[in-house]
Amino acid sequence: MKWENLTSPALDEFDRSTPVILNVGAIEQHGPHLPLVTDALIGRHFLELADQALGDQVLILPQVAVCCSEHHMSFPGSLTVTHETMLAYVCDVLQSVVAHGFTNIVLFNSHGGNLAIGQVIIEKLGHRHPEVDFFMLTWWKLAPDALRALQESEFGGVGHACEFETSMIMHVAPELIDTGTIKDTPLQSTYAWADADLLTGSRGAHQRSMSELTAGTGVYGAPSYATAEKGEKIFTLVTAELVKMLSEICPPS
Ligand SMILES: [Zn+2]
Repeated sequence: MKWENLTSPALDEFDRSTPVILNVGAIEQHGPHLPLVTDALIGRHFLELADQALGDQVLILPQVAVCCSEHHMSFPGSLTVTHETMLAYVCDVLQSVVAHGFTNIVLFNSHGGNLAIGQVIIEKLGHRHPEVDFFMLTWWKLAPDALRALQESEFGGVGHACEFETSMIMHVAPELIDTGTIKDTPLQSTYAWADADLLTGSRGAHQRSMSELTAGTGVYGAPSYATAEKGEKIFTLVTAELVKMLSEICPPS
């Protein structure tokens, strides 16, 4: 159920243990072929599917689309807020949910640049409101084995504007893709222990801009392996896990 579509008295009818979900996305460059809205669109679609599956067992807040994309700012069109702004803004939004008495709050993340600050947000709010449970769920972490089985590219093929994200946009909004510009970028390695891909991560972090990480292409990975069918499968597999996790947080009565 979408929070914003309810009347105030209808919202007041909800059990306060109902999970309340906020998607934090991004509006930023996704290579020459994908739209700026990619991460926001992916997050929105997951929550549409969760909404269809769970109905009034879940409350979905209005999306925060512009988040932390400072590392993408050398590419035209990327929008960003600072970590400080995001921390303050998202905490304020979620504290208004707390003020109405809700006790299960889930940050649903669809952008890598929100991982660190998202963790800070739930830690900060958790300390401030010990009576409330705060969670962060990031879509590519929810079904790792199933997603790894879908990956056809080599290590490094799934990252940004990659095999997976391109597949997902092919499924939800193919009209927004400039297919003629799809091109893979090989892994830009500096130290082997810092090499990462979305599903595997790395042993150590080496901070680099997106331009450095992608040799100036804006693409981290292998979008040439993308298909709409794969995109649909990713949405189905991850949504099944998301729905299961949300149901565990607040079992249907
Ligand atoms: Zn993305």
